[in-house]
Amino acid sequence: MKTIKKSASLILALALLLTAIPFAVSAATLTWPTLQSGSSGANVYALQYLLNYWGYGPTTLALDGSFGTNTTNAVKNFQTKKAPPSDGVVGSVTWTALTNISQSTSSYSDNPTKAIQYLLKNKYSMSAVDVDGSFGSTTKDAVTAFQKKMGITQDGVVGPNTWNNLISASAQVVSPLTYTISYNANGGSGAPASQTKTSGFTLTLSSTKPTMTNYTFLGWATSSTAASATYQAGGSYTANAAATLYAVWQSNSTSSKPYANWTRQQKIDHIRSGKDYSTQAKAEQQLTTVTVNIWTYPNNDTSKAKVSATRNVRINKAISADFVNIMQEVYNLPEKFPIYYYSGGGYYQVEGFSYRAVTGGTSLSYHAYGAAVDLNAEYNPYSSNASYVPSNSVYKITTNVANIFKAHGWSWGGNFSSCSDWMHFSFGE
Ligand SMILES: [Zn+2]
Repeated sequence: MKTIKKSASLILALALLLTAIPFAVSAATLTWPTLQSGSSGANVYALQYLLNYWGYGPTTLALDGSFGTNTTNAVKNFQTKKAPPSDGVVGSVTWTALTNISQSTSSYSDNPTKAIQYLLKNKYSMSAVDVDGSFGSTTKDAVTAFQKKMGITQDGVVGPNTWNNLISASAQVVSPLTYTISYNANGGSGAPASQTKTSGFTLTLSSTKPTMTNYTFLGWATSSTAASATYQAGGSYTANAAATLYAVWQSNSTSSKPYANWTRQQKIDHIRSGKDYSTQAKAEQQLTTVTVNIWTYPNNDTSKAKVSATRNVRINKAISADFVNIMQEVYNLPEKFPIYYYSGGGYYQVEGFSYRAVTGGTSLSYHAYGAAVDLNAEYNPYSSNASYVPSNSVYKITTNVANIFKAHGWSWGGNFSSCSDWMHFSFGE
């Protein structure tokens, strides 16, 4: 049943061609070079691959690019089956039949693929193409570049028109496709300039490494939130695709502290369980001092451009790595959230450990555990009124800042139900 249908449709197609119905025009107008006994070169190689694909014998042809007796006999056999008359001369009718191969981009027969690859590599000087019978991304890109050069549809698929151009066009150099690889320092600075990846060739990535204070550069990844690197500076990039490579950073404090991988509950337990906070001296044994990056106005002059500064903060060891990460994320915010300089005390208002009781009570404040931090106290005061909101100032805690602490599992005093403590962020409270 299948064979009968196929034969019927072939006869119909032939009838359409013979009567020169307008929509058969593309097949009718394609012209092909004539090959015959004595011909040689790249087109003869392609012919031999195609004859071997059809497999009508009498023998499997040696691939020598030379149109001799064996090739003549194979052409005659093919013509007898597919494209009479059987004269051994390869003209338009025979080429059209030889290249009438159903194909898709994902599945391609070995010999037709080799014919395509041979022509791309040897007739069109596309050196990245291997004649391996495997229709991968390099071959597809080479076909697309060839189509671009010929001014025909660029789809990377070898249909009748592309076959015709591959066989008919004169030998010439076709430039491969190229892709742009750009770099994003992802919060750091010193990203390398963009590079050009040529399809089919391995690109050596720039050896330039970006930097970020308190962070170690791990490498590059195609996602800005990747935790590990896919590519290394100076390493290889082989994909035939454009990409933006983002720096992957690891906090120095995170990498050097064993409790970096603790769960939230482990950290809370570590802050409180079995620890003696009965005196300031005992509480201080649970602390470490970290240096964080901040933005500030010179002399609190908000008419000037913000500048970068640092602040040393005493914080509980169990959450010091998290805290450094939090403050770096705050620092990296596009708005460059500014920290107020308290000239009365001579410090930037990022205040951690303080051995004191809670406001209006006798129990220890989370500051006494080194588990709380106040930001810009001058402009974000404590109020016993839970709905209190400070008036607008550049130092007012923003949603972005509060969300960063929240994402790390911290609480914000601006959300307390019994009071408002806008300056106050704490862990485990
Ligand atoms: Zn506080």
